[in-house]
Amino acid sequence: MAESGSGLRVLIIDEQSVTRRMAVKMVRDCGAAEILEAENVEHALTMLDAQKRAVDLVITDVKAGDVAGAMDGVEFVRRIAERRLAANILIASALDDSIIRSIETMAKGFGLDVAGHVKRPISPENLRPVIVRLVARRAAAPLLRSRAVHVSVEDLRHAIAQKQFVPHFQPRVRASDGEVTAVEALIRWRHPERGLVPPGAFIPLADRTGLIDGITDVVLEKSINWARVWLDAGIDIAVSVNLTENALNQPRLPERIAELAKQHGVAHERIVLEVTESAAITEFASSLEALARLRIMGFGLSIDDFGTGMGTAEQLARTSFTEVKIDQALVTGVFEQPQFFGLLESSLKLAKRLGLKTVAEGVEAQEDWDLLSRLGCDEMQGYHVARPMPGEEVEGWVKGWHREAL
Ligand code: C2E
Ligand code: MG
Ligand code: MG
Repeated sequence: MAESGSGLRVLIIDEQSVTRRMAVKMVRDCGAAEILEAENVEHALTMLDAQKRAVDLVITDVKAGDVAGAMDGVEFVRRIAERRLAANILIASALDDSIIRSIETMAKGFGLDVAGHVKRPISPENLRPVIVRLVARRAAAPLLRSRAVHVSVEDLRHAIAQKQFVPHFQPRVRASDGEVTAVEALIRWRHPERGLVPPGAFIPLADRTGLIDGITDVVLEKSINWARVWLDAGIDIAVSVNLTENALNQPRLPERIAELAKQHGVAHERIVLEVTESAAITEFASSLEALARLRIMGFGLSIDDFGTGMGTAEQLARTSFTEVKIDQALVTGVFEQPQFFGLLESSLKLAKRLGLKTVAEGVEAQEDWDLLSRLGCDEMQGYHVARPMPGEEVEGWVKGWHREAL
């Protein structure tokens, strides 16, 4: 696996050498270890391909259409994501927020993490929080770092046939009394040579190639089975499972989940389905129908990565979600970043207004917990509580956590 050294590697793309040089200096001042520069996206792609090692962050402008003949920024984002040449992207642009947000949603759809967007010209004030956050996150999450693994469709097919996928579970707890309310199933690919491969490295590909349903089924089956095991051990918690939009639109999905619930004797309200916030989910009739059917059957419905996508109050009000999970980009280290307080607060308020439970993901520090709890967030999930763990460890962890909390 192409693991990089300990420092952050950043690629800056800007056609103006003066702007580029200023950006290089700022990024270096913020603590990046290695900085690459490219004049345009063609040059950047050639350089990244030749490096055989993904960068942690690409900072680029996105324009509606670049100079004649050149690829536009949107195309570039797609190609970077497809070839896994970078883990994160930061868009520095003068374009409208709404256009940038839709490009970000697309980047996410392709499995790229979006570090955020800043207004051009970039300044140390708007760049620093993003870089500092990435440096911290990189140190804290070795698993997420290895997402630049190249995976082919054949690899995935083989892995499904060999049953190499296994969910790990990350607990979440109630802010008011520390009670464990649920665990989220997070899939890992136990690769015989590469070790544990994180979902970012294969879920987008699986989703585009129709292999997602096989993976979703494994996660559902194992998660609901574990829920039964935990109930038998006296642990009454919900289990939540992530669905891509394609998985959600699989016509027989609601029946399949109901069948598994029945087979293992798990109440429907103990099963939560998480769908990432995106315009498509709340605009397309087929997704709305799938969500409505799941809700009518009594399953919980969660909007994942809430707060950075394009959902509006009107769109959300049309759906039948039961909770929102505030995106970790708004949560991790937020106590040090007052510029995010407003966004966080308004996301929480919107959710409350719609009668939804709020869960923060990516809570890494006590200070984040305190701030979120003050802002009225109901539940917390993140490394500060626990990292994702194999199903076998959940019972011991929950029992240990209770003892600590009392
Ligand atoms: P997600 O559903 O938003 O899951 C949260 C991600 O944040 C997980 O990454 C989790 O390990 C990580 N995380 C949790 N707490 C912290 C923290 O305090 N700090 C930091 N830095 N990270 C934290 P993971 O497991 O790599 O999963 C990434 C994404 O892959 C998930 O994001 C979800 O969208 C997707 N995914 C995971 N499992 C499945 C699955 O079974 N099916 C589908 N369709 N998607 C999945
Ligand atoms: Mg999730
Ligand atoms: Mg999330």
